Amino acid sequence: MSATTWKQLPSSAIIMLASLVAVCSTYFFWAVWMRSGSDLASWTSWSDTTWQIAEVDSRGRIIRLGSHPLAIAALVGSVTVCCLAFAFGAWQFLTGKEVRRRQDNDAISSRIEKVGQELDEEVYALMNVLKQHLDFSSSHSEALAKVNKTLPSVTSPEQIRAIVQRLINENTRIQNEVDTLNARVQHSQQQIEKLRASLSESQRLGMLDAVTHLKNRHWLEANLPREVASALEYKEPLSLVMADVDHFKNINDSFGHAVGDEILRRFAELLSKNIKGRDTAVRYGGEEFILVLPHTELEGAHNLGEQIRAELEGKKWMHHKTGLPIGTVTASFGVAQLRPEENPDCLLERADAKLYEAKAAGRNCVKSDGGSI
Ligand code: GH3
Ligand code: MG
Ligand code: MG
Repeated sequence: MSATTWKQLPSSAIIMLASLVAVCSTYFFWAVWMRSGSDLASWTSWSDTTWQIAEVDSRGRIIRLGSHPLAIAALVGSVTVCCLAFAFGAWQFLTGKEVRRRQDNDAISSRIEKVGQELDEEVYALMNVLKQHLDFSSSHSEALAKVNKTLPSVTSPEQIRAIVQRLINENTRIQNEVDTLNARVQHSQQQIEKLRASLSESQRLGMLDAVTHLKNRHWLEANLPREVASALEYKEPLSLVMADVDHFKNINDSFGHAVGDEILRRFAELLSKNIKGRDTAVRYGGEEFILVLPHTELEGAHNLGEQIRAELEGKKWMHHKTGLPIGTVTASFGVAQLRPEENPDCLLERADAKLYEAKAAGRNCVKSDGGSI
């Protein structure tokens, strides 16, 4: 295995591998020792009790276990430690995804913070350059004023030539200064442009869900108030469809988190495929999704929920690696349309209440505010 492959192996896999090796080698050395028939008591002078932890026959089969409690304790202890290490490795592996997701979010936040800092520094540097230029301009004005003062007393051509020379020198100095300033401002502009692009890319990533690539809850919190305000201002309908995959925990428990993630991705694709225009699909959290549907009445939103529900129910799922059947996956839906004077939280609460009702009604159904349509 190459060095990079080793580095890519999660620590949980290394722990599990190491504990497996430890258990196997303990068993191997123990078996070899038993077969050789050696007795630790014969190597030590301080004990007359046999340390042999099992008696074996000529073919190496165990006849009788344990004759010294410390030897048994050592064996049981080492096997227990290995089993615990294995369990810890497995637990780390199963929860590893959560940790990675948290690390992703932390990385995006620190990137946004870093870019913001760099942007501040660049603007500060630019302001300093402009200030220097202002100082320089005032020194130039002073030089000109001095020349202006000496002009009335000038009589000889040499004196006039000297003044002209001073003016030429002053002009060259200011020209150089303006060139430097131009170059510095141009550089700053490019830097600020780059940093601004990087900042908006980080902000965009911060609003996306890493598993499904749909918009995430941050996006909803930043944008739903705007959608609600616009719908209220222009007196246009706005509806929400809240969806939750049924018995998703069972899917994870039976087929593993990787399969669970794959189902979330496919469900997200199904949602995206069924929306259009200004509609947005959002992963609200876990196995919960929201469709934000501007210009949509309750009936249209309900029908859309029903269409997605039926399409999901009609799919036969299979394990993508083993090809083993997973069966059907269903989801429940709660739908609500924005009421006059309502705020985003109330709208979300009503859609959530309807989703709860759909779960209570046996799941795999759509419930809308104002009764089933
Ligand atoms: P219900 O029909 O009542 O919604 O039951 P449920 O099992 O779907 O709901 P529950 O809230 O009991 O379990 C949701 C599970 O979703 C638990 C959690 O481990 C799992 N989950 C949350 N986020 C993810 C994820 O990103 N990937 C995977 N694979 N599982 C997740
Ligand atoms: Mg669920
Ligand atoms: Mg849920």
